[in-house]
Amino acid sequence: MRDKVSIFREKIKEKKMLDSMLALLQWDLETQAPKGGYELISKMIGDLSLKSYELTTNKEFIKLVENLYKEKESLDEIERKEVEILIEDIEKIKVIPSDEYRLYSELTAKAQGIWEHAREKKDFKIFAPVLKEIFEYNKKFIKYRGKDEDVYSQLLCDYEKGMNIEKLDKFFEELKNEIVPLLKEIELQKRDFQGKIKFQESKEKQKELSKFILKYLGFDFQRGIISESTHPFTLTVNRNDVRLTTKYIEELPFSSLYSSIHEGGHGIYEQGVENVLEETILADGSSMGIHESQSRFYENIIGRSEEFWSGIKDKVENYYPNLKKLSVKEVYKGINQVEKSLIRVEADELTYSLHIMVRYEIEKGIMNGKYNVDELPQIWNEKMMEYLGVEPKDDVEGVLQDVHWSCGLIGYFPSYALGNVYSVQIYEAMKKDINVEGALERGELIKIKEWLGEKIHKYGKLKTPKEIIINICGEDLNSKYYIEYLKNKYREIYN
Ligand SMILES: [Zn+2]
Repeated sequence: MRDKVSIFREKIKEKKMLDSMLALLQWDLETQAPKGGYELISKMIGDLSLKSYELTTNKEFIKLVENLYKEKESLDEIERKEVEILIEDIEKIKVIPSDEYRLYSELTAKAQGIWEHAREKKDFKIFAPVLKEIFEYNKKFIKYRGKDEDVYSQLLCDYEKGMNIEKLDKFFEELKNEIVPLLKEIELQKRDFQGKIKFQESKEKQKELSKFILKYLGFDFQRGIISESTHPFTLTVNRNDVRLTTKYIEELPFSSLYSSIHEGGHGIYEQGVENVLEETILADGSSMGIHESQSRFYENIIGRSEEFWSGIKDKVENYYPNLKKLSVKEVYKGINQVEKSLIRVEADELTYSLHIMVRYEIEKGIMNGKYNVDELPQIWNEKMMEYLGVEPKDDVEGVLQDVHWSCGLIGYFPSYALGNVYSVQIYEAMKKDINVEGALERGELIKIKEWLGEKIHKYGKLKTPKEIIINICGEDLNSKYYIEYLKNKYREIYN
């Protein structure tokens, strides 16, 4: 038995090494590589992905995992969980022909450059052919699994186990019914809180503030860095090398600040996974919904609270002196202005989920054959008009704004909405244990990080989202707290 386990450990080590190499290539491609390098790097990513695929689908390795699974009662907790996860992963991956797997990996690596080029030209048509291919591959890969379940629901499950379109349809419907009337009330008030926080700030100052804020939250720069990219993201080479990006826009100085806080939430999670999991496949987030709960928690519940600004305003003034003439309340209201806007990552908390709905309905429509990729700009604009009452003037403001589809992340967007729901449940539980408001006012963000670390981060993938959330809150995912939170917060801001 122990012999099998040690062979297993060797194989996992190899697999993790390949994943780290892939992460480094991906990092280079998205942050530094010149356009001329895209093609070769994409090929390298394709080749290395194939190696990782071959390792996972190798007959002897599968047999080994299956044997360990049969004897799982004699494995320790960590090994058992790894084997259970691998059994499911292998099931999904082994049905894909190897050449298709490699081509798809290469395609998604290449697609990001094409997406960027389409953005430069503000023309979706440049991106459409490759996007079509990505969607087709995803449909095909799901079909290979040979399950009866709805195609899109199966994709959703890859990011959040147990999720399906019935649950999400119900969730979004509820949310729409609660948010839209509140939005209408707010709109009637025609208040402008944002005018006061509109100013220009140099990229240099924004960069310095991003670093400061990440340190303030507890991100460890001995084990992480922050850089720049078209679309902010977090990438983990391993738990001692966690890399974040943000994006600096001189006329929107709060954009980089909140992107950095968001990615910081992801980064702190990755850095907080317990050391004993480092050499295992469990050194990862529990699910994408839980991952986004951490980033959205830091970004909104912490970062957009009045207490946070009480604790930090004088420090932020060192970088953004324009804030000196404003009160904490004015900054707080400014950053929480409700606005029917075009760009998801800039959206306020109230309208944010409507942005997710647009993407959810589009993905569902394409995966189930209702929509065509070519018609996406038009469908996108119609849905934005319907839910948010705004219309993009070009594709960059519309269908080309998110990087996700170019990376093959289809079914990912609902993770943000789930993350919002989880984040409020987590917040409610945290308040019972520690004085969150006091910690924010005193700048003791470490207390918050430690609580999250103990309850969520350290477990990595060892616990499922359900186990984590029930353990913390005593109940499973429940959107009522999130809806209540939004109502209370915005009724207070808008009287
Ligand atoms: Zn995120």
